[in-house]
Amino acid sequence: MRSVTVLGSTGSVGQSTVDLLKRNPEAFDVRVLTANRNVELLAEQARDLKVETAVVADEARYDELKSVLAGSGIEVAAGRQALVEAAAIPVEWTMAAIVGARGLEPTLAAIDNGGIIAVANKECLVCAGELITARLGRTGATLLPVDSEHNAIFQVFQRDHTVRRIVLTASGGPFRAADRSVMAAATPAQAVAHPVWSMGAKISVDSATMMNKGLEIIEASYLFGLSEDAIDVLVHPQSVIHSMVEYADGSVLAQLGTPDMRIPIAYTLAWPKRMATPAETLDLAAIASLTFEAPDAIRFPCLDLARSALRTGGTAPAILNAANEVAVEAFLRGRIGFLDIAAVNDNVQSALGAPSATDLVGILAIDAEARRHAEATISGRSWRVRETDHKWANSPVEG
Ligand code: NDP
Repeated sequence: MRSVTVLGSTGSVGQSTVDLLKRNPEAFDVRVLTANRNVELLAEQARDLKVETAVVADEARYDELKSVLAGSGIEVAAGRQALVEAAAIPVEWTMAAIVGARGLEPTLAAIDNGGIIAVANKECLVCAGELITARLGRTGATLLPVDSEHNAIFQVFQRDHTVRRIVLTASGGPFRAADRSVMAAATPAQAVAHPVWSMGAKISVDSATMMNKGLEIIEASYLFGLSEDAIDVLVHPQSVIHSMVEYADGSVLAQLGTPDMRIPIAYTLAWPKRMATPAETLDLAAIASLTFEAPDAIRFPCLDLARSALRTGGTAPAILNAANEVAVEAFLRGRIGFLDIAAVNDNVQSALGAPSATDLVGILAIDAEARRHAEATISGRSWRVRETDHKWANSPVEG
């Protein structure tokens, strides 16, 4: 039996993970589940899986969690520190599925245990790729990618062969074929309506701006040790080919499957073996045609922002990620327009550059500074930077 922790068990990836765990009670001993606020679902999962500990990050939910789990024998805790401590409880396999840079500290705590860390939380790698890589070397922990693209590459990556490039496929999101005026007027409901995948709100908006693919370029660079120019993006609306690796001889290896996150999650759960999943069999005859197109860097400027952050290196990806988290939240709350997300990101990236920081404290300080700058940009206090210093001058939305 493999002992398990699921960080972010109430989210989209978390629920798919719990689904697989519930189907295989003989194979997994689930010890810890965590959520932010969703006490009801967390308590239900905790009872179903008979876990030892359930934690909510939001301290205000402690009494509620305690009351719904009263008499169950399940230990409950709340707050940031409790979350990090729960992530540090030794287990063999941890799912890191908290959304955003808030997942960094718990993920590092799990890495310190030296087990297998299945990483869905790409933002933690984007913020602290070098720190995480160094920590893995020290603790002997194994990082397995859950993102379907990186999981695909991981499945076909032959480390002893010369890689010419990798190709990350992208569905293109809900605005793949939309013109800029449609994008400028896009509502949060339209932006989160992903044509293929059902995901949490933040990653759905990231898919719509293609910042998700930008973050994935950075994630891939850290996971596979590749430079920015060896990572291509190809729009593939059917999301059947999950990504590809091209080797020196011109051979291209790809992983295919139905778009169901339980496939990559199961790969990491059973690794180095495989386990059965309820995912549908891939029926290529029914799909009939697979199509491909180049990404449009003009309508989706976040792709180039991410490439530029990766080329700059250091804390540039962390700054871009923090700005993007703030901008996406502001968009979801109706404070800014859809195209403003890229404008805010560009503004913060241009203004802050890449100050040096190598340890966790330094990275968190820079993350906080980038969030302050993004917030000030959004609330209008630093539009001066935007108006004078870069290409989004005066009309970020109308473009
Ligand atoms: P969701 O928004 O659906 O879920 C996020 C999870 O994190 C929830 O359990 C949520 O708890 C918890 N959470 C949110 N904020 C905090 C916080 N401040 N502290 C602690 N826990 C918190 O996200 P997804 O499942 O869609 O995505 C999770 C991660 O996986 C993201 O990094 C995303 O990019 C990545 N990913 C997702 C894919 C998908 O198919 N969804 C595919 C590939 C990668 P609560 O429910 O209580 O709010």
